[in-house]
Parts: sequence; structure tokens; C-alpha cells
Amino acid sequence: MVNFYLRSVNNFQEILKRKTFSKEELIVLIRSKGEERIQLLKRSQEVKNREVGNKVYFRGLIEFSNICSKDCLYCGIRKGNEKVLRYHAKDEEILDACRFAWKNGFASVVLQSGELSTPAFVDRVDKLLKKIKQLSNNELGITLSCGEQTLETYKRWFESGAHRYLLRIESSNRELYYKIHPKNDDHSFEKRIEALGFLKEAGYQVGTGVMIGLPFQTYEDLANDLLFMKKLDIDMCGMGPYLEHEDTPLYQYRNMLMSKQERFNLALNMVAVLRLLMPDINIAAATALQAIDPAGREKALAVGANVIMPNLTPCEYREEYQLYENKPCLDEDAELCRNCLEARIELAGAEIGYNEWGDSRHFIKRMQTGK
Ligand code: SAH
Repeated sequence: MVNFYLRSVNNFQEILKRKTFSKEELIVLIRSKGEERIQLLKRSQEVKNREVGNKVYFRGLIEFSNICSKDCLYCGIRKGNEKVLRYHAKDEEILDACRFAWKNGFASVVLQSGELSTPAFVDRVDKLLKKIKQLSNNELGITLSCGEQTLETYKRWFESGAHRYLLRIESSNRELYYKIHPKNDDHSFEKRIEALGFLKEAGYQVGTGVMIGLPFQTYEDLANDLLFMKKLDIDMCGMGPYLEHEDTPLYQYRNMLMSKQERFNLALNMVAVLRLLMPDINIAAATALQAIDPAGREKALAVGANVIMPNLTPCEYREEYQLYENKPCLDEDAELCRNCLEARIELAGAEIGYNEWGDSRHFIKRMQTGK
């Protein structure tokens, strides 16, 4: 027994030192518990500090509309949820939040919304991008997270000032994808993958990610998700635990789920393993982590993440942008949020990269090598 234990620990240490990983090795890392898990998290922290440094970059998150044309089976703001009051934040409210971000040294904002592709929506985002650039002397960096669009739209928004884009694949397993989305043309797996290609073509720093702990999801799926990100050669990742929402169809499978604490631990393991697999990308500490553990995002920063998205959505709208249950900070305004985060990040031993864009090093290298 002792021998066996020693052998497995040694083998684990060997895997941790690698730069490339087989699917089986990724599964061993993702599933690690106890002493081995501690080793993994320690290693990912070392790799993070060596490759991207100890700084955390702020991206002020503005959830500017919850109007959505999609019916994703897990999402609280899906089209079919009639309990949600729909909103479009006013231009002035969005621009005020951007001004706050700029004046407070956040350096970047993320504009996120439900998924629409009407000409009016495309125009509106375009105009907002130009205004945000104007009000900040071109200084604010802008990430968009507005779902699938045409190549032409992505190019147009890029020209108008957006330079990063987040589009989670949600799950890279086609079969699982269709268990969590309606099987129709509006929710096509192929189209989502194609959109990720368009984003690259348009010149963005491209981010994707998945939900962790979904019903029907296996460890092999998660390892494949990481390999998918590697193959796509992404620049950024945002991934977090799946959290059930009462008003969604996927809620019926809640009894199949791991406990929230297990999902949380698994999500941290995924962040750590991705840091080993793709050492120089930007990884966001997902807000969903904080819905399980009040210090969840800081814990992710300690094991591999280097980006955090303080919520700057005007408070009156937050109640209506509940993608999942227990979404944190529903009543905390931007000022409070900044102070609270600052204290927490310093406690976690990291430094905040105020007034720095904190671009993905992976992207910078990609541009230098022309890939
Ligand atoms: N409409 C945009 C933004 C979606 S909201 C788009 O399609 O890209 C941002 C992310 O929230 C989603 O990509 C999804 O991964 C996550 N999310 C939605 N519902 C969730 C849930 N119930 N639990 C955890 N994360 C969820």
C-alpha cells in the first residue's frame, strides 16, 4: 500500500513537470485531491508568477442588456424565462460606468449582453464603442461578450475600438453541447466554433471557456475542453462552475450534480491545469466562483488566474441579469466594489495592475510570430 502510494505521488510529480500533457494525464491532474491537489495548485501558482507575473488586471464588467434571442437550457436570462424584466441600459449609464472605470485606473471594460444580432443592436454597440474610446482619450481597452455575430460585424466592432472578445464554447463535446442547448439552427455548435474562427480572423484577442460540473459532463469532457482551448490557441479564458437556476430546463437534473463545493474545487483545478497547459494566456477568475465561496475569485487568482471583472453594471439592473442563482454583489455599487476587491486582492498577496491593459502575453507573442 505504502509503495503504491509513493509510486503514484512520484508519478504525479513527474506529470506536473511536463510542458505537454496527454488526455489521460490531464484527467489525473483535474481529478487530483488531497496532497496531490496541493502540489498541483502550488505548481500552477509558480508557473503563473513565472510566465505572467503576480499582477491582477481589472476589467470593469457592464452587463448592458439582458435581451436575448437564445434559449440556452442553463441560463437564467434565456429568451423563454418570462420572469425576467428585460432591459437595455441607457447610453449615459453605460458611459458613466466606463468613466468610472477609466478614472479609477481599471484600464479596461467588458461589455456583456444577451445575444442579439439585429442591425439596431449591431449599430448600437458600434456607436457605444466609439463613444467609449472618445471619452477616455482612446485609453480604455474594450472587451466584448455579445455572442455569435457575422464576420462583418466582428470586423466592424474591431475597427470601432473593441480589441478582445469572449465567447465561451460552453462545452467542446458536441453531444453535451446539445444536451444543454436546444437542438436547432439558432444554437448550432458548428456556428459557435465558426464564430471563434471569425474572431481570430478579425484580429481580436480571443477568449473562450466552459462551464464546469454540468449534468452529464465527464472528466474526459473537461480534459477535452482544455485540449480544445490549446488547439484553438486562445489568448484568454473565462471558465467557472455551472450553477443551477430554478427557472431553466436544466434545473430538472439538479439531483445529478456534484455538490457545489465539489464543483468549486473542480473549477479551481481546471484553472490550475489550464495554467500549466497554456502558461502565458490571461485567465479570468469567474464571478460564478464567488457565488459558492465569498473568497472564490481570490482563490482562483492564487492558483493561476490573473484577471478579475469587478461588476460595474448599474445596480438597478443587476437583479435582472441573474444567469445563475446566488449571483454575488447584487447591491454593491462600483465604489464599494472597488474598495472591497482591492482589500481582498492584497490579502491574497497579489498586486493590482492599475492603468495597465494587461494584454494577453500569448497574444503579443502570437502577433510577433505572425501566427
Ligand atoms: N450572450 C453572451 C454572453 C453570455 S453570459 C454569449 O453568448 O457569449 C456569459 C456566460 O455566463 C455564458 O457564456 C455562460 O458560460 C455563463 N452562464 C450562463 N448561465 C450559467 C449558469 N447557470 N451557471 C454558470 N454559468 C452560466
